[in-house]
Formats: sequence, C-alpha cells, structure tokens
Amino acid sequence: MKTGFYFDEKTFWHGGGNFALTLPVGGLVQPLVAGGLPEAPETKRRFKNLMDVTGLSNALALSTAPMCSVEELSLVHPLDFLQKFKALSDDNGGNLGLRTPFLKGGYELAALSAGLSRTALADVLTGKVKNAYALSRPPGHHCLPEWPNGFCLLNNLAIAIEAARTAGLAKRFAVIDWDVHHGNGTEHIFYERDDVLTISLHEENNYPTDTGFIADKGRGAGLGHNMNIPLPAGAGHLSYLEAMEKLVVPAFERFKPDVIIVACGYDAGTYDPLGHQLCTAETFRLMTRQVREAAERLCGGRLMMSHEGGYSEAYVPFCGHAVMEEMSGSQITAPDPMAEVVAARQPNPRVVQFFSGLIDEMAVEFFG
Ligand code: ZN
Repeated sequence: MKTGFYFDEKTFWHGGGNFALTLPVGGLVQPLVAGGLPEAPETKRRFKNLMDVTGLSNALALSTAPMCSVEELSLVHPLDFLQKFKALSDDNGGNLGLRTPFLKGGYELAALSAGLSRTALADVLTGKVKNAYALSRPPGHHCLPEWPNGFCLLNNLAIAIEAARTAGLAKRFAVIDWDVHHGNGTEHIFYERDDVLTISLHEENNYPTDTGFIADKGRGAGLGHNMNIPLPAGAGHLSYLEAMEKLVVPAFERFKPDVIIVACGYDAGTYDPLGHQLCTAETFRLMTRQVREAAERLCGGRLMMSHEGGYSEAYVPFCGHAVMEEMSGSQITAPDPMAEVVAARQPNPRVVQFFSGLIDEMAVEFFG
C-alpha cells in the first residue's frame, strides 16, 4: 500500500490582500513587488514540484478530493458564519477575520482545502492508503468556529476529525501540531472534549501572543486532554526531538489513540521569516519517524498529516521531501543543500541544556 498525497492546483490560486510579511501595506509599509497573502502558494507548489523532479511523487498515491459540503463544514463552523463567508466569496471576496483575506471563489477553495484533509484522514482510517499527507491550503489550525485568523479560513483538521467521527471511522484522535505558531483554533474547538487529544509544540509568545500556555490543559471532560509545549525562541534540532520524545510520545501512549494526526507546519525551520527556531530538514524527518513509530506501536500505523504554515520558499520543499520520504519509506532522497550550514548554526550545549531543563519541568507538570 502506498502513502497518500492529496493536493489540488486550484488551492494554490487562493489569494487576497497585500502584505509585507504580516503587515498590510500602506502608510509607511511599502508594497512589495509581488505582494499578496503572506501565506503564499510558492512554498507548497515547490514542495510538490521537488517531489516530481526527484521522482518521489511516483512512489505516492497522488490525488485530489471533493470539497467539503456545508453539512461537513457545519460540524465545526456555525451555519450563519458559512453563509456569510459564501455570500462574500460569491460577491467579490472579503475578510471575516484577522489576516484572512480571500478572493471571489475563496469559499470553494477553503472548502476544497478542508476536503483534502477530510479525504486523507478517511482514506487512512478505511485502509485505502498506508498513511497520508494533505497539502491543504489555506491552512487551518488557527481558525476558530466563527473567527478566521492567521491565514486560516476554516479549521481543516477539526473538520476532518469531526467528519471521521460522525462516519464512525474512529473514536479517539491524537493531534500533534508542530507548526511554530500555537494551534489556537484546534485547541479551542476540542477544549472540552476527552476523545481528541490536542498537543501544540510551538514557539513561546509568537502567534497568537495571548494563547498557548502550559497551564491551559482543557476544561470539564477535556481537562488533561490539551497540552501546550511553548519553547522559547532559539530551540533547535535536539530540543525539538527531546520535546517529542519526553512529552509528545508519552502523551500518545497514555491516550491510546485510534489515529495520530499531525498539523505539519514547517515554520520552525531555521530560514522561516515568521519563526525563530532552528529546525532542519533532518529535524522534520526524525520527528516524522517518531510519530510514525508511535502510530505503528499504538494504532496500526494510522498516521495522517495536514499542511499548515512554513514560509521559506527555498527551504520548505526540502523539509517536506524529508517528511514524505519517512512516511512512505522511499529511498528517493533530496539531500538538504543547507545541511552543513544549518548543522553549524545549532545552539551550543549550554543552550541545549537550558531547553532540556524546561522540557523536564514540563514533563513533571504534565505527568507528575
Ligand atoms: Zn505557523
């Protein structure tokens, strides 16, 4: 059986707004020549293109997917919000949140992005593919039920989980969100639920600046089923792997999921303009190995990833290629052209020791 890879060129045509980094242009912010959404299609398209060029695409089961229906979207998002979104999208585009502009037809593209994640998860759970990756765009993890933010227009993974649960495909879902930003939308949606474990491994006080704290552990039935792992800026390869090994994987083991789901952002990568961590293509490869092995031990290898952030056009494709090599078990590689430089830029042992201390403190906080 092959690894599924779900993408659609149409989702790369989503756009809107005019930004320099995350700043709307105007006033003292000069428009960029190629200004548009900060969440631009190039990182994603180049990721797919690199796999085409190396031949790794041939080892995967490539496909698109139907867009999500209103019924599916309304499992997470209120109907009146969806109607407002659709009306604006039919008209001439708009923006219903923070840094979430869309063009005419943006509703359909967001519903298609959610559809890629929904189908990828369903195909893993029904055994159609070995495991799966959805190149969903726009991303989803920041989006709350009625408040799109941080480039996320609909919460792709939450919709995929609710669609799978409603269809009776699985009961217990474990989510690790390793995007450099806090997965505030996913946390919010499942905060009072004990059947969805949400873990966010992110840069402390990056985005949003008022969420993502260790103390936020869930509420009611969901208490103990939300875990935030905020690492200060400057964490690198070893610290990310250590956080996965000491915090994320043990949390999976306690929870006993039916499937492991990754909100896979690449903005913890060392060249990212919206993050300040020092992860490398090798970090993403080894984190993928950690979740793949955990899935093999705990839930029959059922593993699904959905693409989130990652803004270095040059570097994301190599990180993504490494993830797909590890998921598929293919020997086709795209050696990281920056491997030597990014290895040399890793924090020194005293800094690694500092992060290690933080991770050990968090392990006591979470597991006693
Ligand atoms: Zn991000």
